[in-house]
Amino acid sequence: MMEEASQKIRMLEQSPAVKGQFSHFVESTDWQAVTQSHQEKTEQDVLRALSKSKLDVADFAALISPAAEPYLLEMVAKSERLTLQRFGNTVSLFAPLYLSNTCANECTYCGFSMSNAIKRLTLNESQIEKEVLAIKSKGFDHILLVTGETNKVSMPYFERMIPLIKPHFSQLSMEVQPLEVRDYKQLQNIGLDGVLVYQETYRRTTYLEHHLRGNKSNFNYRLDAPDRIGQAGIHKIGLGVLLGLEDWRTDSVMMAHHLRHLQKCYWRSRFSVAFPRIRPCEGGIVPKSVISDRQLVQLIAAWRLFDRDLEMSLSTRESPEFRHHAVRMGFTTMSAESKTQPGGYAEDAQEALEQFEISDERPVADIMAMIRKQGRDVVWKDWDPALSHR
Ligand code: SF4
Repeated sequence: MMEEASQKIRMLEQSPAVKGQFSHFVESTDWQAVTQSHQEKTEQDVLRALSKSKLDVADFAALISPAAEPYLLEMVAKSERLTLQRFGNTVSLFAPLYLSNTCANECTYCGFSMSNAIKRLTLNESQIEKEVLAIKSKGFDHILLVTGETNKVSMPYFERMIPLIKPHFSQLSMEVQPLEVRDYKQLQNIGLDGVLVYQETYRRTTYLEHHLRGNKSNFNYRLDAPDRIGQAGIHKIGLGVLLGLEDWRTDSVMMAHHLRHLQKCYWRSRFSVAFPRIRPCEGGIVPKSVISDRQLVQLIAAWRLFDRDLEMSLSTRESPEFRHHAVRMGFTTMSAESKTQPGGYAEDAQEALEQFEISDERPVADIMAMIRKQGRDVVWKDWDPALSHR
């Protein structure tokens, strides 16, 4: 325990809040005050937010507050209308490709944590080629590369593997360990279009309770990763919190602040948000704040009203029923038939290697049918390298 505590203190010392980057805002913001800001919202605040076309963070806080619950149908209808106006009648599909489940971090909610006795696998060139072909055969043209966080799966590996994968897909995003600006620039030069870095929670004390060992326990370094991605000029930056680790409303308000900060600084990038929610069984931890289906719908609609241009993504963590009803709500992007274990597309399922359990296991054809039944068209890409400003 003593050693863990002193490691955390070392991490804090190594990574001070950086002025001009979001860690500076978080350092100077009182968590309780943010919590109070949504708790105190009234019906008048909600009605004002609903009537506005350009919303600020205070409006967003009103829309996710209990005071907005009676206005859920109105919020969902407006969210659907705004999404149709901005993105048309489409939902874009993507597939995650897990390249490695090796990880040097200890996160309380994740099956890849270092101390878990699971078989570790990092795909080599020929295994990746098989995965790529299997994914392509299902029709996907947008791929999300996912890895655990370890020195063995870092820049030299990415520089070798991206040139093999990129020629097969119009859009390539990554969800890997946070990197330096020069690294993001280098990866952009070889085909990277988007980077997702989920903060998990914006409350430092809670963050340290769930990130026990490894580089990920450096709160500020992760917090400032989206700034570094923006500085590198990456086309798309993805944010997310693990809903349930902390008060989901306070974390969402902090993420709204984060989005506005990034939009001001890196206006040429596009932004996306995702809504992973922790499930009671994951890693054996109990969510601190449970977000119900109804509250998740409220949160999704609030994000769309807050930002019309925001890409919003829903993963296969959610059940078929929820995804079925969510299609029309405001989402622009969905994963389908996802495998969360390295080698999962080409090889037989190896559940012991999975990062988390998938709820919606339906094949891509069923997901497409479900999307069409909801009156939306499926698109396989919404971006092409030829459109890049680099
Ligand atoms: S959440 Fe990421 S960093 Fe943490 S154990 Fe899982 S793979 Fe590793």
